[in-house]
Amino acid sequence: MSSLTTDRIRDHATRLGLTHLTEVVTQLVDRAEQAQMGYLDFVDLLLEEELGLREGRRFRNALKLSGLPHHKTLDEFDFAFQPDLDARKVRDLATLEFVRAKSNVALLGPPGVGKTMIAVALAVAACQAGFSIYFTTLDDLVRKLRTAEATGRFNRQLAAFLRPAVLVVDEVGYLPLDRAEANMVFQLVSRRYERGSMIITSNKSFAEWGGVLGDDVLATAILDRLLHHCDVLSINGPSYRLKDRFDLVTGGEPMP
Ligand code: ADP
Ligand code: MG
Repeated sequence: MSSLTTDRIRDHATRLGLTHLTEVVTQLVDRAEQAQMGYLDFVDLLLEEELGLREGRRFRNALKLSGLPHHKTLDEFDFAFQPDLDARKVRDLATLEFVRAKSNVALLGPPGVGKTMIAVALAVAACQAGFSIYFTTLDDLVRKLRTAEATGRFNRQLAAFLRPAVLVVDEVGYLPLDRAEANMVFQLVSRRYERGSMIITSNKSFAEWGGVLGDDVLATAILDRLLHHCDVLSINGPSYRLKDRFDLVTGGEPMP
């Protein structure tokens, strides 16, 4: 290929925003020549290279802005450690049908059983599939809404929590809310109802949410919307955090 042509291709690709193509076009031409590729296959290769790079970049940026505490995936989850958890149910959720249906997932259980890890893994999968995601603890969510309200930006902050296709709300139940805060959660949940998915984790049973939200009527109204379309997974096994601390679990006896 003449250098005049390569220069022009690079110039055009830059002006079209095909930044990757400007760098690799000569390599791709070499590859096409060696493989004696047809014209269509070559165009296909060019577009796939550019798109693949863009997708990777979008995925990495979205993960960075997602607020996720880590990026673990389901492949890293040891289902054998949690035999009462239905692995098939979790893998079904990973197909992301619940995101398309705009329904919810609730992960319930005591500390350390992997609630946050599964919520994160589902969010990472959703992000990879091109859905927008955001992760927050309930505490952070409420604090942000309160601060926004005090400065007249409540609606804008609420809108930010309504935007993502998947909103993970972690750690419902660690700290009790007051009535005004529970009201904000109600607004969020009722506005997201049938419009976007939520993944909730909680160490409290739904029956205890009245206590957490400081108001039984509000708790019922929130749960009504949250649970109408919701997969509920209760994980009632051992804590993974204490896995190697058998002395804490068995009082000194090694686990069988
Ligand atoms: P929870 O949110 O239920 O308190 P986490 O999801 O934070 O628990 O899990 C605690 C730690 O143990 C995390 O580092 C998590 O990645 C890990 N973990 C929990 N369960 C498993 C599991 N079954 N396989 C692999 N790692 C696990
Ligand atoms: Mg957790």
